[in-house]
Amino acid sequence: MIPTNFHLEPTSCCAFARRLLQSCEAFHRYWYMVGLANFLSGLHLFTIGQNSSNMAWRCTGRTNAELISNLAASGLIQNERVLRAMSGVDRAHYCPHSSSAYEDSPQSIGHGATISAPHMHASACESLLPFLHPTARVLDIGSGSGYLTHVLANLVAGGTSDADGSQAGAKVIGIDHIQPLVTLATNNMSKSKDGRALLEKGRVDFICGDGRKGYPEGAPYDAIHVGAAAQSLHSDLLDQLKSPGRMFIPVEEQSGFGDQWIWVVDKDPDGNIRKEKTMGVRYVPLTDAPR
Ligand code: SAH
Repeated sequence: MIPTNFHLEPTSCCAFARRLLQSCEAFHRYWYMVGLANFLSGLHLFTIGQNSSNMAWRCTGRTNAELISNLAASGLIQNERVLRAMSGVDRAHYCPHSSSAYEDSPQSIGHGATISAPHMHASACESLLPFLHPTARVLDIGSGSGYLTHVLANLVAGGTSDADGSQAGAKVIGIDHIQPLVTLATNNMSKSKDGRALLEKGRVDFICGDGRKGYPEGAPYDAIHVGAAAQSLHSDLLDQLKSPGRMFIPVEEQSGFGDQWIWVVDKDPDGNIRKEKTMGVRYVPLTDAPR
């Protein structure tokens, strides 16, 4: 049996293939183990939806380069810019245990938080990519380890790890409501030369605050990434999205079953909102700060 928390969400295009796979006992065993490991490491985020497909679990590598190359070979990374931006960030700098840093799975980072699975980070970058230009302002809500904030900064800098690639005004803000995680993210980013440069040049700021309110001081944002499951498409976040702009946000359905879906929300140049429900996921919730 697969624990219900970790079941796959078949989507229309691949429901048949998924059903076949689900009938395979080895596949069941694999997802049971992945589910159990994720449950033990603190409930968290990996995709069960269409984009990442069932190829995600095959992407684990022995090195950062191998992990990224496997994500690309599986079609989870499709754009050269995302490939370069993720290659420019060593995931071992953001994971507590270097032995599991190149696994395509979430890892506990303490305080009930996790660094998301690499296939989920790839998916977010691919989705936000059209809005990650050299003058973009980006908000990463629930920045946790700081890994994705660094990758997003590389993307804004032109898909390289060159902190000077971006223009004046370009900025990525990571916000988390747990101060020790804000400190952790800053320390993690300081482990690499280009990470230190991004911090020193003010291309990246890590802020402590309630991400459900966004961060009006830095708005409007070309792109907003939300790294924890929201109860709704918070109106403050929609207000802080630029026209045009895009938000990538996991939202928990109100069905009572805990189902979560990624919503991609676009604001067009006239301010009109278009929402698309894309894939089933499992994220930790966007909550009140612990007391
Ligand atoms: N993108 C991060 C994911 C971290 S897990 C990474 O890959 O490392 C989700 C994060 O959301 C946790 O760090 C948690 O502290 C944060 N979080 C939860 N509720 C929040 C809120 N209301 N405001 C800001 N951060 C929040």
